Amino acid sequence: MIKKRLFTPGPTPIPESVMLRMAEPIIHHRNPEFREIFKRVSENLKYLFQTKQPVLTLTCSGTGGIESTFVSLFSPGDTIISVNGGKFGERWVKMPKVFDYNVFEIKNKWGTAPTENEILNALKQNPNAKGVYLTHSETSTGTATDIKLISKVIRENSNALVCVDGITAIGAHEFRFDDWGIDVCVTGSQKGLMIPPGLAFVCLSQRAISAMEKSTTPKFYFDLRKALKSFADDDTPFTPAITLIVGVDAALQIIKDEGIENIWHQHERKANAIRAGVTALGMKLFSNSPSFAVTPVWLPENVDWKKFNSTLKKTYGITVAGGQDEFTGKIFRISHLGYYDEFDMVTIIAALEMSLNEVGYSFTSGVGVQAVMNYFQNNK
Ligand SMILES: *Cc1c(COP(=O)(O)O)cnc(C)c1O
Repeated sequence: MIKKRLFTPGPTPIPESVMLRMAEPIIHHRNPEFREIFKRVSENLKYLFQTKQPVLTLTCSGTGGIESTFVSLFSPGDTIISVNGGKFGERWVKMPKVFDYNVFEIKNKWGTAPTENEILNALKQNPNAKGVYLTHSETSTGTATDIKLISKVIRENSNALVCVDGITAIGAHEFRFDDWGIDVCVTGSQKGLMIPPGLAFVCLSQRAISAMEKSTTPKFYFDLRKALKSFADDDTPFTPAITLIVGVDAALQIIKDEGIENIWHQHERKANAIRAGVTALGMKLFSNSPSFAVTPVWLPENVDWKKFNSTLKKTYGITVAGGQDEFTGKIFRISHLGYYDEFDMVTIIAALEMSLNEVGYSFTSGVGVQAVMNYFQNNK
């Protein structure tokens, strides 16, 4: 018997209590029962984002959430500064071009985060920039950006809206929408929120809400003015993914019970434990500004990715994420985002040890697992 275990940064595992809620008979979205749930979800999302501002729930994946912000806040000819340090940053360079916006790209080497100076230079060269798009946790490279610092730099030196792809950061990294002066933040359901894919959540500042009135970009489904209007009545403009909203209600309850600060802390511990485990096995970490959501690791030179990955999957039921683009076959990524505990971290390192052993990589058996256990016991 093999248990299947996902260690991917989206979709992530779903808690049993959340699955059970989603298995209940469906309810109708235009009735008080649903409104009550939706209202509670919206309130708890504010807690998740640490804000008093509205957090809109859209039925689409995370990319749709980001698209809704591009089409709702800006107009053709506007200049957007976009940081590209991986697959998702690259997407936020490509997407605004489709809407005839001017895009100024800050290109970062994979595994590195944008610096204060790079942001300042971009703002200096584009004094009329309307928005800066940043990826808090770049999932393709497991790299975290110091959003608090970068947001401050943007706010002090421009009128550009600070727009954050928080899709693998929310629920893993400290994030304070109001205190940090963020204007837009988007997350998705299949990441830190521990439910299946299909919902995006969009938080908007007052400045962002005002910008929506001036936007001339054509839009219909992704018009955030509609979503905001319905939001005031605990409603949605179109049929929402009711089942997922019921699921996120249960997931947010777990987050609230645990406490968001504790959840951030536990993600930091899980990330540190995994880093300790793979380092003890003699492998090297990929990112120089590592995320708490996902850890990319260089494959040892003599290890063939296909063989290693198929051993993990077929023999042990474990799914990790591979590298993308030029890092395909060179790195692999271990997710610790969402519903994982200390023993899951022991499990994934044990599975790495057994699989690496089978593909001919040599190390002292047990040192990875021991490093993980030691880390947890010595760092509460
Ligand atoms: C997963 C992810 C996305 C894309 O979200 P989809 O739900 O696949 O559309 C965007 N940005 C980051 C950082 C992600 O991890």
